[in-house]
Amino acid sequence: MASVYDRQVDFDTFMEGVEKRNPGQDEFVQAVREVAADVFPFIEDKPEYHEAQILRRIAEPDRIVSFRVCWEDDDNNVRVERGWRVQNNNAIGPYKGGIRFHPTVNESVLKFLAFEQTFKNSLTGLPMGGGKGGSNFNPRGKSDNEVMRFCQSFMTELYRHIGPHTDVPAGDIGVGSREIGYLFGQYKRLTGRWEGVLTGKGCEYGGSAMRPEATGYGAVYFLRNMLTRSEHDVEGKTAVISGAGNVATHAAKKINALGGKVLTLSDSDGFVHDPDGIDQDKIAWVRELKNERRGRISEYVEEFTGATYHEGKRPWHVECDVAMPCATQNELEADEARALVDNGVMAVCEGANMPTTKNGVDVFHEADVLYAPGKAANAGGVAVSGLEMSQNAERVSWNREKLDDMLLDLMSDIHDKCVDRGAGSRGRVNYVKGANIAGFERVAGAMLAFGVM
Ligand code: NDP
Repeated sequence: MASVYDRQVDFDTFMEGVEKRNPGQDEFVQAVREVAADVFPFIEDKPEYHEAQILRRIAEPDRIVSFRVCWEDDDNNVRVERGWRVQNNNAIGPYKGGIRFHPTVNESVLKFLAFEQTFKNSLTGLPMGGGKGGSNFNPRGKSDNEVMRFCQSFMTELYRHIGPHTDVPAGDIGVGSREIGYLFGQYKRLTGRWEGVLTGKGCEYGGSAMRPEATGYGAVYFLRNMLTRSEHDVEGKTAVISGAGNVATHAAKKINALGGKVLTLSDSDGFVHDPDGIDQDKIAWVRELKNERRGRISEYVEEFTGATYHEGKRPWHVECDVAMPCATQNELEADEARALVDNGVMAVCEGANMPTTKNGVDVFHEADVLYAPGKAANAGGVAVSGLEMSQNAERVSWNREKLDDMLLDLMSDIHDKCVDRGAGSRGRVNYVKGANIAGFERVAGAMLAFGVM
């Protein structure tokens, strides 16, 4: 009979298997590789994890639901898109994770996001498993009525697979308060039940007062924790931020509130650089541009003199003290990481999910830049979603001050877990390693308790 150690595959063999089983799913393989690189050394002397194939099981979603979404546009054309829900792991609580509407959405992207979400949700300490969903539907240029019809059609299939105790989706790229309203309304119509099945809801119907701000604010709290540990502060620092959506604009607001200066914002067409600083009034203008007028960031330079627009470029060559990628995955590559390092960046804190490529992360680590991965730094959003679930279950509503205090505590706690598990020599912290191991331990502990399933 084989001993436990005979069953202990090494990292390369494990990754070969992941690649073979997930052909063409580059983002998913990338996310698994990044976690496995830290988890393998950690479990080297823990045969029970190998025996129970824990990482192999977390890297295989519990299930993936894929469906057709038909809707009619304003010219009565029938349109057909794809929808998915990836339920990755529910060992520590109901599946939880956002819905993304963007033309780049495919199964690989959603599998990577659901996998990452499993570790992120574990780090919050709250009872939430990992999931993610979405569609290749592109909300850009669509009327409100078209978005409503699409959301209703999407939910007409999705509602069978979700529920307050099974799977609780939220927003993500392309899914904000407007879309959550349409999705929740359709769920309620189909089931006849008002229940906490989605988070990110409007405050009028069970939403959390701080949910829109939570991811961006939480990421800046994490950044401040990292800086404080190195005897620095946000005050007086210049910040380069990518994106102009929910996460980017709230991160920018909090940087300003703490005395920093925001130099850039971007969208998928280019970035704006405002050397005078993108202050709170300018951020309010950008939010109105994006959320009400559905405009492009290029319009910023027509409104504010002194700013420049850079078509087709990303902001990482602009000199800064801190960088916050807050748009999308793989938006900061190794050469851009090198440019940031050469320009003296001291900290990089991710508001987006996996925005820095593996080679980019290596550049930051080699240069000893403080680097916080999204799964830790942007966990404030899902943490406040977890609080929204508690409020819905208890039929109570907490005010902004209470929620902000809870967010501060949650982010400090996540930071401390990363420091604890990622501590290296000479006081250095590998936040990626810390997040991966701390996130893994909790999920793995629950899975061991359940036996083989
Ligand atoms: P939004 O839809 O509000 O904003 C996304 C922003 O990123 C927009 O400015 C968009 O530009 C830009 N963007 C999208 N795709 C690309 C691309 N392929 N290349 C360049 N820019 C792009 O989304 P959020 O702010 O909610 O999400 C941003 C990131 O944060 C995502 O990675 C998301 O997964 C992550 N996140 C979000 C959470 C939340 O609470 N919302 C929670 C945790 C993580 P354009 O308008 O041109 O599309």
